[in-house]
Amino acid sequence: MSGADYLRYGGNTTAVEFVAANGRRLLIDLGTGVTELAKQLLAAEFGEGKGELPILLTHTHLDHIQGLPFFTPFFVKGNRISIMGAEPIGISLTDVFQNQLNPHYSPLNGLENLAAGVTVHTIYPGNSLPVEGFEVSTASVPHGGMWTTAFRITADGTTVVFLSDVEYPESVPTVEALALAKGADLLIHDAMFSEEEYRKRHGWGHSSVNTAIEVAERADVARLALFHHNPDSVDTVIDAMVEHARERTSVPLYAAAEGTYIEP
Ligand SMILES: [Zn+2]
Repeated sequence: MSGADYLRYGGNTTAVEFVAANGRRLLIDLGTGVTELAKQLLAAEFGEGKGELPILLTHTHLDHIQGLPFFTPFFVKGNRISIMGAEPIGISLTDVFQNQLNPHYSPLNGLENLAAGVTVHTIYPGNSLPVEGFEVSTASVPHGGMWTTAFRITADGTTVVFLSDVEYPESVPTVEALALAKGADLLIHDAMFSEEEYRKRHGWGHSSVNTAIEVAERADVARLALFHHNPDSVDTVIDAMVEHARERTSVPLYAAAEGTYIEP
């Protein structure tokens, strides 16, 4: 969402960048947040066609791929960008993007018209991924009637786990999710709903704040970022959510906000 009531936490959709000490980058998802990131990348090596970027895709719901046609590093020849994600049911990952770029939706008219070298790779959640400069392991987690991929990323001795767009059956965190999150320095977890909202929106594929806290506590993580805010939650509602959450746990936590840079 956008507007004056959303200025502090922001209204863009999912795009989370990781930067290792040696300057290597990694991106999770191509939500609308990538348009801002693109400006920074173009001011650096991506503007000269010397950029390299692996992109890990949680799933292909529109809010996670919506930024693809507007991600300007795709338009610079020489950049090498690889997109890695699990295959959606009944269609290849490449075809999802080709559909998104067809003339009904975009003048780009296909991945082949992007100037950068773009490759699409199918991954199998549960396996680790070969991403230079990072250790990446993955797990499948339930998301409404489908699955998304969660990622555990380690670089320079710091581990971040990204677990969004998840709703566990009966709100009981799965063994796979807990194992992936175990001992992370930072857990970024879906926390779309308060308990009251969750009772109404059960089955939508997202978690409550309480579930995010439960995963953080049981997996013994050092810090928790509440992520994927409800689009209806204005800044003041998110402030109250954080305050209330802090009363319930000793795990240090905060609400993810657009443009936040987190030091290891
Ligand atoms: Zn989704």
